[in-house]
Amino acid sequence: KAGKRMRLLEVNKEAAKYFYYMLRDPRGEVGMRYLTGRKLTDETMHHFGLGYAGKNGEQVVQYLRKKGFTDEEIKDSGLAMFSEQRGLRSQFWNRVMFPIQDINHRVIGFGGRVMGDGEPKYLNSPETMIFDKRRNLYGLNFARTARTGNIILCEGYMDVIAMHQAGFTQAVASLGTAFTVEQANLLHRYAENILLAYDSDGAGTKAALRGIGILREAGLTGKVINMRPYKDPDEFIKNLGKEAFQERIDQAENSFYFEIRILSEQYDQSDPEQRTKFHREIAQKLCEFSEDLERENYLQAIAEKYMIRPDDLRKMVIGYASQTG
Ligand code: ATP
Ligand code: MN
Ligand code: MN
Ligand code: MN
Repeated sequence: KAGKRMRLLEVNKEAAKYFYYMLRDPRGEVGMRYLTGRKLTDETMHHFGLGYAGKNGEQVVQYLRKKGFTDEEIKDSGLAMFSEQRGLRSQFWNRVMFPIQDINHRVIGFGGRVMGDGEPKYLNSPETMIFDKRRNLYGLNFARTARTGNIILCEGYMDVIAMHQAGFTQAVASLGTAFTVEQANLLHRYAENILLAYDSDGAGTKAALRGIGILREAGLTGKVINMRPYKDPDEFIKNLGKEAFQERIDQAENSFYFEIRILSEQYDQSDPEQRTKFHREIAQKLCEFSEDLERENYLQAIAEKYMIRPDDLRKMVIGYASQTG
């Protein structure tokens, strides 16, 4: 079984090499043009081992066979699928390829992005014997040695790469799935403070709220970076540059303040009924702090921010706390 894992890692390594050379080949020109258009330097492309998957899904399979891998190994690596009509073929073609590495820089899977506007925009390797999406993070192999005291968690491969290129080498992303408890525990090995740099749209806000809960559960401190008026870190840095991004890092919002602010937007603050509901939600959330002093500190800060009488809020909190025990 260990031997099999080793073989699958070798398949991925060879495939990564194939994609890498393809990107630098005349046949990979569309991929190179795409990545250059997204302002990636040659050095960045090399650092992340970026590649291009070729015009069809057959070439990489043929290449891997020539390298001595069996069809079963190629299939089990997640790089290709078998169909009756077409035989063994890779699902990756005409895409720029992002090798996904574990913390020891071993290629365990791939993300592939379509050129331009096709669907699906990103295609990722399926889970395999060596690729567990819940337990890996894109970019962590570099971020773990960044020594910045924090880690930036974002949504996409391009965000990680844009941040690293701008010098924020502590950036990581979950792998096309929602952030998991396992990933939070993994991060906890390298940092205490996590800065969330999720997309500024509705989905990103929802993901950030969810992420905050998971981080808290894992005993990590979370802060939220405001990306507006841009959609994600890649676009922010492209438009405003790294100094502006550093400012946003310095101004990152305490995760509890972020949660309450998002909550406040769901209530019409000029309506007494809604305002009361909002205050009840705050009181309930304050109950979740197990440490008295921490709860009191947040209570005072939030009361001041939203112009609530602290004594009234405190009474409400005590009321809820006695209900839930
Ligand atoms: P780009 O900047 O290249 O358009 P993005 O990272 O901003 O990409 P989003 O749509 O914000 O793209 O998606 C964030 C991440 O979610 C992607 O990097 C990818 O990992 C994952 N993802 C997006 N679309 C898909 C998809 N169709 N299938 C699987 N994963 C996806
Ligand atoms: Mn800790
Ligand atoms: Mn995005
Ligand atoms: Mn993007």
